[in-house]
Amino acid sequence: MRTLHSTALALAAVMASAAPVFAQQAAPAMKHQDTEVYAPVPPIVTPGTTDSAPPSDAIVLFDGKNEDQWVSAQDHTPAQWIVHDGILTVSKEKGIGNIETKKTFKDYQLHIEWRIPANIEGSDQARGNSGVFLASTGPGDAGYELQVLDNYNNKTYVNGQVGAIYKQAIPLANPARKPGEWQSYDVVWTAPRFNADGSLKTPAYVTVFMNGVLVQNHFQLQGQTLYVGKPFYKAYDRAPIKLQAHGDKSEPISFRNIWARDLTFDPSYTLK
Ligand code: MG
Repeated sequence: MRTLHSTALALAAVMASAAPVFAQQAAPAMKHQDTEVYAPVPPIVTPGTTDSAPPSDAIVLFDGKNEDQWVSAQDHTPAQWIVHDGILTVSKEKGIGNIETKKTFKDYQLHIEWRIPANIEGSDQARGNSGVFLASTGPGDAGYELQVLDNYNNKTYVNGQVGAIYKQAIPLANPARKPGEWQSYDVVWTAPRFNADGSLKTPAYVTVFMNGVLVQNHFQLQGQTLYVGKPFYKAYDRAPIKLQAHGDKSEPISFRNIWARDLTFDPSYTLK
């Protein structure tokens, strides 16, 4: 009895000493309202009538009527690709080359549709090659290319196929449609940040859906997408989006329904 009694007393003593700690953890003073915030309020956006139609806050870059939002990437003269039947077709005429947006971007969401010609010929990288340069930082720079290519039935290096971040990221899938059918990219681009001395502060990230299928999942870029050599960063702040007029001999590809949304709303908050 004496032993049991003393054990019980010892246990009671332990519980008593632990009680304040237990009470502190189990009965927090916070109420559910303490972790509910009412600001900042997300901006109201009216969605498009389909998921590919521009929502109310989109910057429409090509609506089928003209290429007023685009200039030559080389000399910033008016773009000279071919607008016809509501679509924009690459001009491979000598001296015309790549085009880029007049407007510059930092972080953005982009929707763009493209079509490889049904009668496409060629192979490897010379078959419907184009590209969406997610930041065109200057005529002398490689920029950051999301590859456009016909890989419905065409073999090439996998980090250079459609859906690849050129020579940096193999796509997670190949959801390519047949030549002649319209395809789409939906892109989320987080621009790299640089310190005042030009050194890299935070890298670029990209997420890409191709034809509704995830092909790049918050991929961290190593720098610009170079044809030769290893990627590296070069400081920039804002940049146009550029479309590639590739020098291959295959039939030129077309684009339509191009729009972007600036991602400027800051949803961060702190609890009081
Ligand atoms: Mg390309």
